[in-house]
Amino acid sequence: MREVRLVSRPVGMPTAENFELVEVDLPEPTDGQVLVRNHFMSVDPYMRGRMNDVKSYVPPFELGKAMEGGAVGEVVASANPALAVGDLVLHNLGWRDVALVPDKGARRIEAIEGVSLSAYLGVLGMPGLTAYVGLLDIAEFKPGDAVFVSGAAGAVGSVVGQIAKARGASRVIGSAGTASKVAWLRGIGFDAAFDYHEGPVRARLKEAAPDGIDVYFDNVGGEHLEAAISALRPYGRVAMCGAISAYNATDAPPGPNNLSLAVGKRLTLRGYIVSDHNRRMKDYLPEMSTWLAEGKVQWQETVVDGLENATEAFQGLLTGQNTGKMVVKL
Ligand code: NDP
Repeated sequence: MREVRLVSRPVGMPTAENFELVEVDLPEPTDGQVLVRNHFMSVDPYMRGRMNDVKSYVPPFELGKAMEGGAVGEVVASANPALAVGDLVLHNLGWRDVALVPDKGARRIEAIEGVSLSAYLGVLGMPGLTAYVGLLDIAEFKPGDAVFVSGAAGAVGSVVGQIAKARGASRVIGSAGTASKVAWLRGIGFDAAFDYHEGPVRARLKEAAPDGIDVYFDNVGGEHLEAAISALRPYGRVAMCGAISAYNATDAPPGPNNLSLAVGKRLTLRGYIVSDHNRRMKDYLPEMSTWLAEGKVQWQETVVDGLENATEAFQGLLTGQNTGKMVVKL
């Protein structure tokens, strides 16, 4: 079996030299472990943070060891009475084609007819729940709100905008990095969308939301956050989900220059980590399944083939090569 190890810590954008693809012996499961043949693995922006040697809400990846991350696959050997050979499972040992998953480290999932298993890494998994919790619980979305989401054509952002529409937003605006992403957003029901490369975000947002916004779902930080603070109406709320524009920064990025507007406008800016909200999965999955069945939510993914291309998929995620969820097929 093969695994991808982190061998040096990236400075700025990760490069091929930071990783190594290594052949290792196939282990035998014991004591509640299962051996899983991975079918898909996820690449996610938070993994960039785990490549740095800094204290955070998850410990850094260790140098010389295989990286981790969401994966779905099939049990091929089991020393666990609760999981049988042939069961499909979701677990956190991606970045390898076969994983030795510890007791309680894998959750059984159902195959859904006509739906790729990789959906459990995207719209039916962590990114989908991130969208749901961030919009409804953190930003306290209410029907009639006007919502702006950045990173709108990505795994989280595309779901945010569509949940907002499905729950009765008055207007949903998205920003993304290419014309084709913008066209896709309009096609799936965003009222307005713009390419943030085409001029200052503040001006583009003002055109798209002349009456302002009530909620900003922040995936990007930086200039987007500054523009949103200007556009927010009194009592506006911001779900601080991520700040991908700064993940590869080598110097501290400047803060928004208009944060003091939060006082007079009585704004709320609130960060969160989705894993603190896993109990909401039981509410999310039935509601999302209904929206999918009714065609109210559409999803896309960009699939990269082969473990040997996983680090390129990760770089591609950081440079906007994906529309919808970026996954690697193993
Ligand atoms: P995406 O599918 O959105 O992929 C990342 C996207 O970020 C790229 O496709 C690219 O799209 C965009 N991007 C890259 N660089 C920049 C930049 N400088 N400025 C603006 N956009 C940029 O990833 P996810 O949906 O998985 O994650 C979205 C955000 O949510 C991230 O910030 C992530 O860290 C965060 N997150 C937070 C969680 C939490 O618990 N708080 C959980 C999961 C995700 P484009 O072409 O539009 O530039």
